[in-house]
Amino acid sequence: MLSIEDALTLVRETARPLPVESVPLGDALGRTLAEDVASDCDVPPHDKALVDGYAVRSVDFQRRPTRDDPMPVELAVVEEVTAGAVPTVPLTAGHATRIMTGAPLPPGADAVIMVEDSTWQNESGVPLGVVQFQSALKLKPEMNLMRRATSIRQGQVVLHAGSELRPAEIGLLAEVGRRDVRVAGRPRVAVLATGNELVDAGLTPAAGQIRNSNGPMLLAWARRLGASTIDLGIARDDREAITRRVSEGLTADVLLLSGGVSAGVLDLVPEVLQSLGVRELFHKVDLRPGRPLWFGVHETEATRTLVFGLPGNPVGSLVCSEIFVSAALRRLAGHSAAEPPPLMATLDGEYHQRGDRPTYHPARLRHEGATAIVEPVVWHGSGDLRALAEANCWAIFPPGERHFQSGETIPCRPME
Ligand code: AMP
Ligand code: MG
Repeated sequence: MLSIEDALTLVRETARPLPVESVPLGDALGRTLAEDVASDCDVPPHDKALVDGYAVRSVDFQRRPTRDDPMPVELAVVEEVTAGAVPTVPLTAGHATRIMTGAPLPPGADAVIMVEDSTWQNESGVPLGVVQFQSALKLKPEMNLMRRATSIRQGQVVLHAGSELRPAEIGLLAEVGRRDVRVAGRPRVAVLATGNELVDAGLTPAAGQIRNSNGPMLLAWARRLGASTIDLGIARDDREAITRRVSEGLTADVLLLSGGVSAGVLDLVPEVLQSLGVRELFHKVDLRPGRPLWFGVHETEATRTLVFGLPGNPVGSLVCSEIFVSAALRRLAGHSAAEPPPLMATLDGEYHQRGDRPTYHPARLRHEGATAIVEPVVWHGSGDLRALAEANCWAIFPPGERHFQSGETIPCRPME
């Protein structure tokens, strides 16, 4: 049987980046940047005040107060500049400009004093009055101001292709003048649940039936990874029904099927996929839960669809999605880097591993100081979805029989 690593290699080799597209900034959150972005301007675009107060010349403060000369520094206010306005009066000796946060500094100013450190008075003959600063004030040249282009120079590349667009990057793109941005394609994922026993979540199952939990789970999972989704509902275990829905799904970039890939008499998915020209790349992986996983690709001139036949058991279908489908989605969405390596954590509690396959056991990861600690949750196997509500990671145990002691270091993988 194929190892996880070999199966992952096949998935990675088969998934190709989707064509890039241009989207408005408002739709770019979570997308992957597909171009280097240079700024069309300096940031800040002018020398600017960082506080509300007075723009001054530091030379006017060089007169040291002494015991005989405790006089505060007093300057005539020559202009008021609010953010969005432009100063018109260069500062000369004995003058200050009242200035608000973000406003451009007048030529000649080399420091800004906070309004809280000043006292203003009206004075006849001086239209904007005079301002006094206590002699104890520690004035340093360049204080409370930011020079033009300190943050970004015009023409400087501020974001590189491959960056994930989070809120900060969206803000930065706006700052440097982008209304549209080129991003990697967004995968479209179709989800089809198969099984005669399945009914929709809104219905009360009759004898022998269960609700379709995989459908909603996989749709939500795909959206969480940034994909757009197509809900193909439920197909009966019937060649014709599956064929019809799968044909619809083959217009997507990724088709996720759940159920029907094991060895039961009604496990018809592999043969239907084959009859529709989906080329099988592997079937079955050395993994628990998740062994029945089927993977193939369907290509026409206009479409290319990666098809995953996921196990029907919910935990198996989620584990396979987390390991294999996520690797495919990352590639399709333009991420060239390999998936992050497993995290090493200290096992909390004993664990007895027995089995011929690597096991992904739902677990709870927490941090105590700098130490990552992982505690497997009580779990009744691949049909026990409830246990996942308590878990936030997969604890990974190797094949074979071995007793793990509390305090041992084991690999684990945070859930998507
Ligand atoms: P299968 O792989 O079709 O043999 O299904 C394996 C197990 O998973 C069976 O117990 C199914 O009832 C269950 N199962 C299959 N599909 C779903 C689904 N969409 N939601 C919840 N359980 C499912
Ligand atoms: Mg089934």
